[in-house]
Amino acid sequence: MDEHKLGYKGNDVLQDLEILTMNAKAAQELILRKILEKNHGTEYLNKFMNGSTDISAFKSQVPVVTYDVVQPYIARIAAGEPSSILCGEQIVELLRSSGTSRGEPRLMPSISEDLYRRTYLYSLIMPIMNNQICRYIRGLGEGKAMYLLFVKAETLTNAGIPVRSVLTSYYKSPHFLHRKHDLYNKYTGPDEVILCPESEQSMYCQLLCGLVERQHVLRLGAVFASAFLRSISFLEQHWCDLVSDIRIGQLSSNITNSTCRLAIQSFLALPNPELADEIEAICSSESWKGILGKLWPNVKYIEAVLTGTMAQYIPMLEFYSDGKIPLVCTMYASSESYFGVNLRPLCSPKDVSYTILPNMAYFEFIPLEDGRKLIEDDEVVENDTLVSLVDVKVGCYYELVVTTFSGLYRYRVGDVLQVTGFYNRAPQFKFICRRNVILSVDSDKTNEEDLHNSVTRAKEILENRNYLLLEYTSCTDTSTVPGHYVLFWEIKSTCEGATPCVPLDAQILESCCIAVEEALDYVYRRCRAHDRSIGPLEIRLVEAGAFDDLMDLLVSQGSSINQYKTPRCIESGPALKLLNSRVTGSFFSPRDPEWTV
Ligand code: AMP
Repeated sequence: MDEHKLGYKGNDVLQDLEILTMNAKAAQELILRKILEKNHGTEYLNKFMNGSTDISAFKSQVPVVTYDVVQPYIARIAAGEPSSILCGEQIVELLRSSGTSRGEPRLMPSISEDLYRRTYLYSLIMPIMNNQICRYIRGLGEGKAMYLLFVKAETLTNAGIPVRSVLTSYYKSPHFLHRKHDLYNKYTGPDEVILCPESEQSMYCQLLCGLVERQHVLRLGAVFASAFLRSISFLEQHWCDLVSDIRIGQLSSNITNSTCRLAIQSFLALPNPELADEIEAICSSESWKGILGKLWPNVKYIEAVLTGTMAQYIPMLEFYSDGKIPLVCTMYASSESYFGVNLRPLCSPKDVSYTILPNMAYFEFIPLEDGRKLIEDDEVVENDTLVSLVDVKVGCYYELVVTTFSGLYRYRVGDVLQVTGFYNRAPQFKFICRRNVILSVDSDKTNEEDLHNSVTRAKEILENRNYLLLEYTSCTDTSTVPGHYVLFWEIKSTCEGATPCVPLDAQILESCCIAVEEALDYVYRRCRAHDRSIGPLEIRLVEAGAFDDLMDLLVSQGSSINQYKTPRCIESGPALKLLNSRVTGSFFSPRDPEWTV
C-alpha cells in the first residue's frame, strides 16, 4: 500500500478515507516501518534497538515512556544539538503543549511534513460534514463561517528553534494561508486578523466582521468551546463599541494593530446605521438567551470541541443558542499528533466518538484494568501489555500511546479513551478523561498534585497568623465567563487562651488566592495573565463542620468510611450543593499571577 492509498493525494477524500479505514492494519504497519526506516539511526532508538529497523525489536525493546524521559533530548535540541539525537529529519519547531511537566510546558518536536498530516485531517472535516449534513441541512456552501481563531505568543530556543502552539504553527503556515478557497472554507475573519498577536484586538475584529456579515454566516465556532464562549462574553461587554463602529463606518481607535486596521477597512467602507440599529436592538434585550440565533439568523450549527473537560460548557452554549442550534464536535488532536475525526458530527456531544486515522502516527494502547483504574506516571508499563490499534476491544478502556515521525516513541499522551465501535477496521473512541487532570477551564490542566502543592504554599500565609487549613476541595465555576477555579476552605484558629488572633480579613484571604495562583503551572498562569481565558481564583470559606457533613454525605452515598478521603475536586451534584450552602465568605485574587513568555 502506498501513501496515495493512505489518503494523502486522492481527490475524493471520503473514498480515500474508506480505503484507509478498511486497511487500518496495513496502514499502521506501513507507518511504523517508515518511522523506523527514517529514525533508526537516532541516539534515542539506537539505545534500545542497536540500529535495527525490525518491528518486533521495536515492540519488545523500546519502552513506554512519559514526557520526563523525552524531555532531556528535547532540551538538548533546544540548546543546539542536532535533531538527529531524536529524529531522522530536521526538527523545525517545538510545539508548546498544554500539558506541563514540573510547572513548565511540554515541548513536542515537529518536522515540516507534520503539517501535511494536519492538513489532511482538516481536509476531511467539511466533506464529512457535508456528507452527514446535506441530508438534513441545505445550502451549507452558500455562506460563510465565523470561526474565532487565535494565535498565541511564540518564542525561540537558544538555538533559534521556534516554540509555539500547534494551532499558531498551523495558522501561520502556507497550508492554512494558501489554502485552496472553495465554498466551504470562506471565513468572515481575514487571515491578518486571525494572525494578530493581541488576542482581544483580534477577537474584536473577528466579531466585527461576523456582525457585518451576519446574514451570510452559516456556521459558528472556535477550536475549543471555552474560546467560543469567551468571545460571546466579550461581545456582551463590547457590543456598544462594535455597533458604533458599524454605524459610523469607522474602526474604534482602541484597535491599534495596523495590520488589523488595514484588513478591516473594507468591512467598514460605509456607515451602516440600519445594520447598527438591528444589532443594537438584539443586543440590548435583557436576556441573552438565544442571542446566537438572533444575531446570526441563518446559522446551521456551532462547531467546537465539546468533549472531555469542554463538556462543562454545553449548558452555556445551549443557553446562548436556546437549544436550537446543533452543537458539532469534529476532531480530536494534540501537539504530539493529530488523532481522529468524528464521522457522525450531528450526534449529541455526549455521544461523540472519534475514529482514529491510521495514517497520522503509530498508535498503541495500554489496557486499563478494572475499567478505568489509571496507571501512574512512574509505573512501568510492560511492553507485552500494549494492544495495537486494530486489536482494541469494544467497551474497554485504554490509555493512548503514540509513536510519531518526529521523535516520540511509545509516548504516553495521557488521554483515557473507551472503544465504542469500529468504522471499517479503524476503532472509534469516546474521550473519557485526561489522566490526573482535576481542574481545567481552558487549555490549563491541573492535577491533584499541582493543586495540593499550590494550596500548601498558600496555607503558610494562614499558619503565620495562627490559622490552620483543616480541609479543602475545589471545583471549576463556568457560570462566569471566563470560568475560574474555586477552592472551598475550612479554616480553624489555633490561638490559645488569652492570645488574641489576628482577624482573618479579606486581604489575608486574597493574598492566599494569589499565592495559590502564583504556584500553579505555566499554562494556568498564561491563561490567566495573558490569554485572559481564566478568571481570578476564588476561595470560598465554609463554616466549621462543613467537611464533616461532606464526608457524611459521601459515605451515605456509598464511600467506605475506612478509606474515605476528601475528594480534591467536586464536579457537581449534592456534594457541591452542600458546600455552597455552607459558604460564609468569598474572596478573589486581587491581581494577575506572574507570567512571562
Ligand atoms: P495540546 O497538546 O495542548 O494540544 O492538548 C491536547 C489534549 O487536549 C489532548 O491530549 C486531549 O487531552 C485534549 N483534547 C484535544 N482534542 C480533544 C477532544 N476533541 N475532546 C477531548 N479532549 C481533547
